[in-house]
Amino acid sequence: MAVLKYPFFLLGVALLMPTCVAAANQPPADRQTPADPARLECKKIGHKLGSVSVRDCYNAELKSSGASSVRGQPILVREYPPLSKRQPQARVLMIGGIHGDEYSSVSVVFKWIKKLNRYHSGLFHWHVVPLLNPDGLLQKKSSRLNANGVDLNRNFPTPDWLNQTRDYWQRRTHKDPRRYPGKAALSEPESRWLYEEIRNFRPDVIISVHAPYGVLDFDGPPEAPHRMGYLHLKLLGTYPGSLGNCAGVQHRIPVITMELPRAGTMPSRGEINRMWRDLVRWLSRNTPKKDTQDAYATFEDTARSLRSVPIRSKPVPEKAIGG
Ligand SMILES: [Zn+2]
Repeated sequence: MAVLKYPFFLLGVALLMPTCVAAANQPPADRQTPADPARLECKKIGHKLGSVSVRDCYNAELKSSGASSVRGQPILVREYPPLSKRQPQARVLMIGGIHGDEYSSVSVVFKWIKKLNRYHSGLFHWHVVPLLNPDGLLQKKSSRLNANGVDLNRNFPTPDWLNQTRDYWQRRTHKDPRRYPGKAALSEPESRWLYEEIRNFRPDVIISVHAPYGVLDFDGPPEAPHRMGYLHLKLLGTYPGSLGNCAGVQHRIPVITMELPRAGTMPSRGEINRMWRDLVRWLSRNTPKKDTQDAYATFEDTARSLRSVPIRSKPVPEKAIGG
């Protein structure tokens, strides 16, 4: 038996060797963090979106925000922090994929992350969230809603939330399941995280990318941009529970909503560049505003008043269903 052991040992070593060699050749990130949730999510994003490869997503260097979706998928963020050589002019929060079936809104944000990776100059301090609703996008049939069937863009605290969102949902959308606002304001982990992110990061402006209405919308002070690339300003009105209503109108933090013209088709490279150029130009000229920073001084009071006992009041006049 002692004679047989030795060849078996050699055979064992021989069988192990290719594995060891392969492991040694792997990039360090793969070896150190085989189950990094950000990389796992990148694989899903890369397989889902035609315009974002797994490699593009890895290169975006997204990090977990610490918050997760209903199904436990991380909400990923890329930060471009202040650089030592200059104090940033303003803080900017950019969000894509609040609605999980608006593919272009996620892909375009990834394209802009690529630009920031190349050209970030420290002019602004960015927090970029390409996909707020991972459960909506990352499933066989992507959905506008999160995994609880809630439209996250109706789940933010606005005055008399329960009555106003119910009234709007029933009478204006005829209980369209795609516009279901949820059981309570901030009932969903994704909207809750975004609200906390605004409270903590205190952005001078919020940019929210959607599709497919092909317009530029704006909520809150100061003056709205007239156009960004081929998107022209068209105020869509406010909805009970929307991010624009909550952050822009109630908290007085400017919210730019970029509604791309198609959810399933990307803008041309030229348009992606023009929108970016116009956005940066607008930010350079219009941020920061003292009013916005003053608004944060009353953030807690506003948040408290939005949570207070609802008073039945007349519904806010609205336009069509919208983003
Ligand atoms: Zn949308």
